[in-house]
Amino acid sequence: MSSASALPFVSHWIDGARAESRGTRIADVFHPASGVVGARVALGSAADVDAAVASAARAFPAWADVPPIRRARVMFRFLELLNRHKDDLARAITAEHGKVFTDAQGEVARGIDIVEFACGIPQLLKTQFTDQVSTGMDNWTLRQPLGVVAGITPFNFPVMVPMWMFPVAIAAGNCFVLKPSPVDPTPSLIIADLFKQAGLPDGVFNVVQGDKDAVEALIAHPGVRAISFVGSTPIAQSIYEQGARHGKRVQALGGAKNHMVVMPDADLDLAVDALIGSAYGSAGERCMAISVAVLVGEAADRIMPRLVERTRALKVKNGMELDAEMGPIVHAAAHRRISDYIALGAEEGASLLVDGRGFDPAAAGPGCEGGFWLGGTLFDHVAPSMRIYREEIFGPVLSCVRVPDFASAVELVNAHEFGNGVSCFTSDGNVAREFGRRIQVGMVGINVPIPVPMAWHGFGGWKRSLFGDMHAYGEEGVRFYTRQKSIMQRWPGSMRKGAEFAMPTAK
Ligand code: NAD
Repeated sequence: MSSASALPFVSHWIDGARAESRGTRIADVFHPASGVVGARVALGSAADVDAAVASAARAFPAWADVPPIRRARVMFRFLELLNRHKDDLARAITAEHGKVFTDAQGEVARGIDIVEFACGIPQLLKTQFTDQVSTGMDNWTLRQPLGVVAGITPFNFPVMVPMWMFPVAIAAGNCFVLKPSPVDPTPSLIIADLFKQAGLPDGVFNVVQGDKDAVEALIAHPGVRAISFVGSTPIAQSIYEQGARHGKRVQALGGAKNHMVVMPDADLDLAVDALIGSAYGSAGERCMAISVAVLVGEAADRIMPRLVERTRALKVKNGMELDAEMGPIVHAAAHRRISDYIALGAEEGASLLVDGRGFDPAAAGPGCEGGFWLGGTLFDHVAPSMRIYREEIFGPVLSCVRVPDFASAVELVNAHEFGNGVSCFTSDGNVAREFGRRIQVGMVGINVPIPVPMAWHGFGGWKRSLFGDMHAYGEEGVRFYTRQKSIMQRWPGSMRKGAEFAMPTAK
């Protein structure tokens, strides 16, 4: 079905075209800056998932057979179109997510990096060959695509996170079904349209809009070979377990609570810049946002007054304003959840130095009165037993924990259930080296606050931030979306006559 209202309607994309929904459910898509509904989105049913998987399955044999260099040429054309339309994508992100426009441009640029990486698929699919494993016999490996694979993505990076998945999957010869977040679904259709213009055959890239129902149908569908998921930890864990039960390959990236350790020898001006940008950029709605500052020894007293001043001075504005540093919260429910955590932190006994709940939406710009606004929030004297320390808040709230020395900082980080990203600010090379070696976290920054690995390195956390063993994109992404086949070959001229009953060995 489609919506009869005058608002734009975000539909599915199946078989190379927009597709009407086979179900009846729809949802509102808000513009968080104004709080106004800007579009409506279809919420896909099992029948929509069936149609998308059937289209992908039809397209798969021919697409898998296209030589990798020709698949790469489609990706090159897609890359060119993306570069031409990158600001359209960034505007759509800012409208529906709320993050500031320059941040949205950065998101698109980091997604494009992966498309560039995927253009190198002929080299990435090159495998190993051993001449003469036995007399007259050779052995080599192939990496072949899996078939139909699916990606389920969160609201916070509606372009970049899907691009962690589909460029590599498709370049490797798979067909893809994307289930974006219903919170900001519009970029998925811009991407589908650009793929069409790039000459991608129909059915290779499909989009089913929706929520839990579409996800459950994808997980249970026998035609889906692998699932990539990015989102919160409880859902990641459940998808990993259900996917495994259905015999699928699954990588499920979950939530985070990223610490930044500030040593007393660090350049504190740089450390303050890094904390402010990484805690409040994108309103803290990044899986690599810093939400805990671990202030070691005398660093705490020296840094705290500057953090208070800078948090109060944040330019919280409509994301399309050129000087905006932080935009609104994504939706009303997230606004409530974050506000409740701020109240909880104060009840738990942390010192609430800056309270973002007092922010006046009128200060964000014209038309923002009904939006989902919070200012930056800063807590000091947060203890590891507090819920505001243990749980992911996913908003513009920075919790400061004071520790006496480096060893206690490492112990604190390592004891946390999440292990996505971490950072250490120091000017001591030995401290930096020890930190990198001892810390139990998947992505580490030394004087780098948001160490999101580049396209060819792969992204993934440890502990309850990743279920599965392969990271997203990079060479691990290529391995995730392909399976290895080993071929041994000899020809009659080199074969001895007679059956052999002993285990074959090299002759
Ligand atoms: P979410 O878990 O609510 O949703 C993620 C996806 O799962 C969406 O497509 C959503 O529609 C779907 N979904 C929601 N509830 C479901 C259910 N009960 N059953 C099946 N599917 C369901 O996450 P979100 O709020 O969209 O995104 C924020 C979360 O994502 C944060 O926890 C953040 O840390 C995490 N995240 C992690 C990474 C990473 O790389 N580790 C990256 C980005 C975001």
